Amino acid sequence: MSASDTLTPAAVSHWINGKPDAATSGRRASVTNPATGEIIAEVGFACIDDVDRAVAAAKLASAEWRSTPLSRRAEVMFSFRDLIVKNRNRLAEIISLENGKTIADALGEVARGLENVEFACGIPNQLKGGYTEQASRGVDVYQIRQPLGVVAGITPFNFPAMVPLWMLSTAIACGNAFILKPSEKVPSASVFLAELAKQAGVPDGVLNLVHGDKVAVDRLLEHPDVKAISFVGSTPVARHIYQTATHNGKRVQALGGAKNHMLVLPDADIAMAADAAVSAGYGAAGERCMAISVVLAVGGVADPLIAAIRERVARIKVGPGSEPFNEMGPLISREHRDRVAAHLDTAVAEGATLSVDGRLDPAMRSNGFFLGPSLIDNAKPGMRCYDHEIFGPVLSVVRVATYADALRLINDNPYGNGTAIFTQNGGAARQFQFDVEVGMVGINVPIPVPVSYYSFGGWKSSLFGDLHMYGPEGVQFYTRSKVVTSRWPDPAASKVDLGFPQVR
Ligand code: NAD
Repeated sequence: MSASDTLTPAAVSHWINGKPDAATSGRRASVTNPATGEIIAEVGFACIDDVDRAVAAAKLASAEWRSTPLSRRAEVMFSFRDLIVKNRNRLAEIISLENGKTIADALGEVARGLENVEFACGIPNQLKGGYTEQASRGVDVYQIRQPLGVVAGITPFNFPAMVPLWMLSTAIACGNAFILKPSEKVPSASVFLAELAKQAGVPDGVLNLVHGDKVAVDRLLEHPDVKAISFVGSTPVARHIYQTATHNGKRVQALGGAKNHMLVLPDADIAMAADAAVSAGYGAAGERCMAISVVLAVGGVADPLIAAIRERVARIKVGPGSEPFNEMGPLISREHRDRVAAHLDTAVAEGATLSVDGRLDPAMRSNGFFLGPSLIDNAKPGMRCYDHEIFGPVLSVVRVATYADALRLINDNPYGNGTAIFTQNGGAARQFQFDVEVGMVGINVPIPVPVSYYSFGGWKSSLFGDLHMYGPEGVQFYTRSKVVTSRWPDPAASKVDLGFPQVR
């Protein structure tokens, strides 16, 4: 009897060649509802054979798919978009159930993922090349972009639908076949997306899913038929992905962790800055790569700002994301929640002030993996709460004397994903935009996730690779350029010429 025969009805399967495909390794993990602590499904992990089966299906499908007219590929993307819109509530429920975020937040995630499908609907325009007539006498030169073939993506737990959509919509529209290895903690949203993609007309084998862990990932990194790897997750894993896959000759974009600073200048509107810090610090329980983790309060702004933040934090409703009145759900797992909570004790031991202790929140008494919003004051570099990516509902305030001190902290930080400045001074904001060494900058915008027709990516240890994700850089990543030089001379004028070709 194979391991697949023993799967329970709640098993989450791979999706290979347009249909569910049971894992054959016998290894599996439980999927937990973080709001209740209950096991809701079992996900089978891929072995090397499972990955190879997906790659073989993708390779076979990619030849026909790259020959499919652009208008047809765009039409499929339009249908995919319509199906996601029609099923957005169901998709949001699946996201919320496995990840814990509120339904409202999950709907926001779906909307931001949809943007990428909409961008992919315009793929004929994105793939237009350049043409130079008469580059030399009777010679024309033109550039075309062609798909890579089979490409793969590995995604994190915190955006079960949006990050897969960042990758797969662009990759597929460009004419590639795609293999997704979703987070094993939240596997079901991608299965639902694969079902919708099939209904939309994505041919069998063009989109495949393999679930699992390092075994599946490492096989994708070494498989000779996989030409490019997109990754989003923590920095240590991003580094491993980048080093291994580039060593194996693949194209890689590996987005890592973050420590996003929000700089508040003395002239900022305090109420607006506090609204932004609370929204961006505690939304999705702080489990966003663009969450604000540190507030840099310049000059005398700290005391009134902290008072305004505390006032807002006291009103945040924490509880299961399925209840519409809750604003903040649980963290992804008990271990992660406990790790995040431990930062509060460490911060105090290292000399910071615990201004709001989220462990006192009533939600902590349930079986879910909750932690109330927490606020640390007087944080400093060298403290664990400042030096580490906490990835939870903990906001740290660092008091700094000047703009230059604040800027130095941001630029010295190993991460460079997102940052924001709050000020009413346009000149100061422009100077910040010029000075700051971070990939995505908000001016009075706390979570500056670029719209889909720009590209997403950080600097420094937040991104390994040359090209950012989705948008125009995504198209560049998933295609390679070919330049054709052509002429149609009269054969009668042809002669041997051993000189190097030059413009005549
Ligand atoms: P993670 O790095 O633990 O996992 C990401 C993916 O990598 C998962 O699919 C996982 O199965 C796989 N993986 C884990 N360990 C691996 C290993 N040793 N070898 C190969 N594959 C491995 O990240 P996570 O906990 O799912 O997500 C949270 C992290 O992702 C945070 O650090 C967050 O900042 C980051 N993130 C970054 C962005 C961004 O755009 N920069 C976006 C979302 C999340």
